Amino acid sequence: MLRIGRHEPVLFASDVHLSQEAIGTARRFLSALDTHADSAAHLFLLGDLFELWVGDDGADPVAEAVADRLARLSASGRRIWLMPGNRDFLLGVPLPGGAQERFDQRCGATLLPDPCVVELHGEPALLAHGDALCTDDAVYQAWRRTCRDPAWQRGFLDRPLAQRLAMGRALRENSEAGKREKPESLMDVNAGAVTRCMDEAGVALLIHGHTHRPADHRWPADERERRRLVLTDWDDRSDRGSLLSWESGEARPLP
Ligand code: MN
Repeated sequence: MLRIGRHEPVLFASDVHLSQEAIGTARRFLSALDTHADSAAHLFLLGDLFELWVGDDGADPVAEAVADRLARLSASGRRIWLMPGNRDFLLGVPLPGGAQERFDQRCGATLLPDPCVVELHGEPALLAHGDALCTDDAVYQAWRRTCRDPAWQRGFLDRPLAQRLAMGRALRENSEAGKREKPESLMDVNAGAVTRCMDEAGVALLIHGHTHRPADHRWPADERERRRLVLTDWDDRSDRGSLLSWESGEARPLP
């Protein structure tokens, strides 16, 4: 298990949804890194860093700029941890032939499985993107199983980039249209799924993103308090998005 000592400052972000269509959000994210990342020891990016990701050969100029920035941070001693989300689940998946450097390698980052447990300043914490916890949405969970299947991923990555981009955009539009029809409750985590994954991991602290409902939930269970920290999404047009700093149990959004 990854152990992060009490003297190591930690930053979290998720759901930045970077794309060339949202340059303002990319600037906001890069500027937050410029301001805060140098003083951190670890940067955890917990999924959906990108709005759409159809393979590591599809990096656009925004993705290249972010990769350069992350590579500089890692070269200067920061550890970068990259967890794929539901938008960028192909992040770091080797392309057929495997000749090209993976995106995580270009960033000097380490890929994290979803979920995973880390020891965070003395306390075990479960880190996840969060989509796997939205178990009320059976249609989405079926799609999640499909697109996480290595054979499906190989078949998809075998297609030419232009075709993958067209398919990815169609999938995204479908999911946006589907979202408008789904009740709000379907789009949030299922309380039972949260309890189950925390029990299985033996943790009282869960940190995730995905739902775009940033919050610090605390509730009693057995003898100890449980806590579910939900990271904010980023959208510069709505003035949303900040890095979260973690220091000995204190979570603080950084202006
Ligand atoms: Mn997501």
